[in-house]
Amino acid sequence: MSKYTGPSCRLCRREGTKLYLKGNRCFTVKCPVTKRKTVPGQHLWQRGKTSKYGVQFREKQKLKRFYGLMERPFRRFFGKAERQKGNTGENLLVLLERRIDNVLYLLSFAASRKEAKQIIGHGHILVNGRRLDIPSYLVRVGDVIKPAARKQSVDRIKTNLQSYSSRFDSKWLELDKDTPQTKVIRLPVREEVSASVQEQLVVELCSK
Ligand code: SF4
Repeated sequence: MSKYTGPSCRLCRREGTKLYLKGNRCFTVKCPVTKRKTVPGQHLWQRGKTSKYGVQFREKQKLKRFYGLMERPFRRFFGKAERQKGNTGENLLVLLERRIDNVLYLLSFAASRKEAKQIIGHGHILVNGRRLDIPSYLVRVGDVIKPAARKQSVDRIKTNLQSYSSRFDSKWLELDKDTPQTKVIRLPVREEVSASVQEQLVVELCSK
């Protein structure tokens, strides 16, 4: 059995999937979920047949934990997705992907989405030249994201970029590592969303 590696990994094991909560470790063989050949979850084999509600609930929990959201903000995003035209599940995933804390993580400006929230909260980030301290801000086409002019902010972002930039793979974001500055060139599509969930199950549960 894999060694216990803290509360974040315990969440991944409970949800049976990688939630990428621990920075670079999640991309190495040290990740307990990667290490395990069997489906994660300490006593999964002991669990009986999961009800339909149970499956839908786990999928929703997985999505919330992936983006680090509590129930109320998650419901707000769901309501917004429902009001948009098109498929609610896809709308929801694309909205969550557009959150600035998620974008900072994708850009490797932060080791994890949790650290991204902290970086934003401490005023290290400018969007279109203005300091932004709301992690739920949804990026738009044309937005320019960069560290605040303070040395402390630039150093923190550059250090993270050096450590994590190898994982950057988002075609909808244009990253200039030297500045460092990013432009949102288009919005993401469903296939580019990083969360691996069956969104229809989430919609079925939240629409009840
Ligand atoms: Fe831990 Fe990251 Fe692996 Fe999740 S994905 S189990 S947080 S190392």
